[in-house]
Amino acid sequence: MPQIIMPLALSFLSALALWLGLSFLMKDSLKAGLITSTLATVFYSYGYIFDGLTALNLFSVKNRHLIPIILYIAGYVCYFIILSKKKSTILNISKIFTFAITVLIILNIATIIPNEITKYDMTKKNTEAVRMSGETTVKGVTPDIYYIILDEYASLSTIKDIWNYDNSEFANYMKSQGFFIAEKSKAKYISTQISLPSYLNMEYVSENLGATQCYQLINNNKVMSYLKNKGYKTIAFDTWYSWIPAKGAMNADLNFNYDQDSNSYLSSYGFISLLKSTTMIKPIKYLEDNSIDKIIANANRYTLNKLKEIPSVSGPKFVYAHVLCPHTPFSFGRNGQEVSYLAAHNWKDKRYYLDQYIFISNQIKELVENIIKKSKQPPIIIIQSDHGPRPQFDNVATKNEIFNIPEDEMFKIFNAYFLPYGGERLLTTDTSPINTFRIIFNYYFKDNFELLEE
Ligand SMILES: [Zn+2]
Repeated sequence: MPQIIMPLALSFLSALALWLGLSFLMKDSLKAGLITSTLATVFYSYGYIFDGLTALNLFSVKNRHLIPIILYIAGYVCYFIILSKKKSTILNISKIFTFAITVLIILNIATIIPNEITKYDMTKKNTEAVRMSGETTVKGVTPDIYYIILDEYASLSTIKDIWNYDNSEFANYMKSQGFFIAEKSKAKYISTQISLPSYLNMEYVSENLGATQCYQLINNNKVMSYLKNKGYKTIAFDTWYSWIPAKGAMNADLNFNYDQDSNSYLSSYGFISLLKSTTMIKPIKYLEDNSIDKIIANANRYTLNKLKEIPSVSGPKFVYAHVLCPHTPFSFGRNGQEVSYLAAHNWKDKRYYLDQYIFISNQIKELVENIIKKSKQPPIIIIQSDHGPRPQFDNVATKNEIFNIPEDEMFKIFNAYFLPYGGERLLTTDTSPINTFRIIFNYYFKDNFELLEE
């Protein structure tokens, strides 16, 4: 809801100011209203018109051509409104506008309602499915479970073969702490949006799922409902933001959100970036600053720091943390120093991904040591990438910033487990994330989930 109020208030106030100004100048509030509507329609729909024309692919669309044409048409409409003497013409035009605006509002409501209904349905379905299952734990223990996703973290072999970097120091450190690394583990998908719903619901999902369905499957997932039903507190961290409210909004008992905690302007960022992409300010390039990159970097730091405090939260807990690192933007040097935003998507110079990779590896070392030390009883810790590096699919990078990685490398992932009380003997070097929670629930909660083909 708050995401709706601010944009509405701003749009309403600016339209009101324009209308009052024009009414004063023209001494005709009806005409002023019509001109305000014309200009607002043109301003807010510009990006859609531009994208629509680009998508048609009939001719190349340039902002510098399209803006004058659209302004000319809008100017002509305003000119016509100003000159028209007949009251009935003006009334008819205003009827057309009212009709158009009503249609737009109905269209918007029509897309919001079905979304809300599916959201509600999914929560109900998952809660019911989970209520059916048993209660006893294998050794009468309910270990805390940390599920940490490192977005786009390369497997040990990919970082060696493609980046020429030997990460065995990190691997050996993890092993010395008690981790098992499934070194041949592979993801089924190379899209975050498809991987996360699949792993969190312990099931393969269709690769054709729409974004909204994906977020709903993430936000109301089976793993969390299952554990909630076992008396676990669910805690979620997500650094995955956008103006789509469902993205990064887990349905958990505690939701750590950098944006809300820091009062960063990200909540308004959604609105600002929407303004930048859909309205007439679209072509103004200098508005494209690197603030979103900074927010993502800060959100990652925030998550890594906050995670260290979680062991002191009382009772059994499931902690989900989606860390958008070493995923772009490349903003960390290997020691955490700031990187120029010009390099944020530079894959071709391989040191940027590698530096961020080394940075996050060191952070993880520190984090797991901290969690293990502070936990009252040995916890379960999973450090997993959703997919490998995918330079050629970075849609923000320019052509000369990317290189083509062999397709197979994009599916190889890092997949490490700290499973106390003998749990690691259930793992193999190819254990896939699809079975992560099936294995864990079978062992620690005496459940009978069938293992899926990997
Ligand atoms: Zn990802």
